Amino acid sequence: MIKTATTTSSGTSWLADADKMNELINRIAGTAAQTDDDEIFPEAVFDWLAEAGLLAVTLPDRELDTGQLLHLLKRIGTGNLAVGRIYEGHINALNLIALYASPNQKRVWNDDAQEYNRLFSVWNTQADDGIRIHAIGEGRYRLEGAKTFCSGAGWIHRPLVTGELVGADAHGWQMCVIPTERVKPIMQDKTFWQPLGMRASVSYKLDFTGVEIDEADLLGQPGDYFRQPHFSGGAIRFAAVQLGGAEALLNETRALLASMNRTDDVFQKTRLAEMACLVESGNQWITVAGAKTDEWLGREKETDRIVAYANMTRTAIEEICLRVMQLAERSVGARGLMRPLPFERLHRDLTFYLRQPAPDATIAAIGHYVLNNHANAHDLWR
Ligand SMILES: Cc1cc2nc3c(=O)[nH]c(=O)nc-3n(C[C@H](O)[C@H](O)[C@H](O)COP(=O)(O)OP(=O)(O)OC[C@H]3O[C@@H](n4cnc5c(N)ncnc54)[C@H](O)[C@@H]3O)c2cc1C
Repeated sequence: MIKTATTTSSGTSWLADADKMNELINRIAGTAAQTDDDEIFPEAVFDWLAEAGLLAVTLPDRELDTGQLLHLLKRIGTGNLAVGRIYEGHINALNLIALYASPNQKRVWNDDAQEYNRLFSVWNTQADDGIRIHAIGEGRYRLEGAKTFCSGAGWIHRPLVTGELVGADAHGWQMCVIPTERVKPIMQDKTFWQPLGMRASVSYKLDFTGVEIDEADLLGQPGDYFRQPHFSGGAIRFAAVQLGGAEALLNETRALLASMNRTDDVFQKTRLAEMACLVESGNQWITVAGAKTDEWLGREKETDRIVAYANMTRTAIEEICLRVMQLAERSVGARGLMRPLPFERLHRDLTFYLRQPAPDATIAAIGHYVLNNHANAHDLWR
């Protein structure tokens, strides 16, 4: 359980302090190997994030712009990709709350994050036995079905779960936020989780059958979850976390080569140069994606452009990460790929975390946007 109500930092002040941030990221990286296990949630790390005020850093009064958020996500990913995944889910849920919650719901859920350090997540992925939310009268709803890939699993206090709303006046894909301590125990299927990497994200399968909630636990209207540009536009956040994995590989490769006195070799220099260029181009992608998202969200009729830019960012960062892994492995060789060195874990985590939904459709959507937009290429993203 994450410690409650001891937060002293506002999060943004922590972010502005480079030494504190570096120390925090190093501390997170230092524990990553200890939680590299299918059943270990990185609890201590979330205590640290809570103490730093980073669980509440995106709340409306914090004035964090999207670029700053993306760089924070990247840095946490550099420390530990599994932590980055869970943290990104928490931020995503708070973002959906900011977009779609009523004023009263916002007060309650923002307090959950800020005062009680409660962890949120977004669990949308499901298999054939997915979720139905049955209206059972008098403002009550009963869930039926399961979600797969529930990052954080039973350690999450306020999972945002989606499902088909049935039996009510409105129908469709509905979000709800489950007050876990007030509902029946949610069954966890740990056998689902036998992954290549990202083990500490404990992304189990959870069965919500029989869980009952109130009207006040429903978030937004049916269909809101898929509203653009927020749905696809959010891909820049997981891309930022992924980039952190590439940055960790660059850090570690440099350190290992230095420790082996292999820094004068021209091939190693060439590989490190390419890795540095790739990681910095990833930094530029997230900086610009953040700035453009903020700029275009303030304008009308920019939905498709925001989505197309997010799709490009995500695709470019996937390629960056794949190439950085290859270069790092060539640089450190077989002996570098053995524990206790971190490369094999970083490789497993990043390889697995790069597998996000519908990558082919994402590329096709970029092509569609470019082919159907008649602006001069120079003006496409201006
Ligand atoms: C570590 C980790 C944690 C996660 N945590 C969460 C979480 O907390 N909450 C959550 O909701 N989800 C979570 N997910 C799930 C994630 O959001 C994606 O749904 C999942 O990673 C995509 O799986 P996939 O690669 O099998 O996807 P797919 O979309 O099935 O892609 C696999 C391949 O099939 C192709 N493809 C896709 N559709 C079709 C089609 N119709 N016909 C032919 N080919 C197709 C794709 O282009 C791709 O090449 C997590 C995933 C990971 C890896």
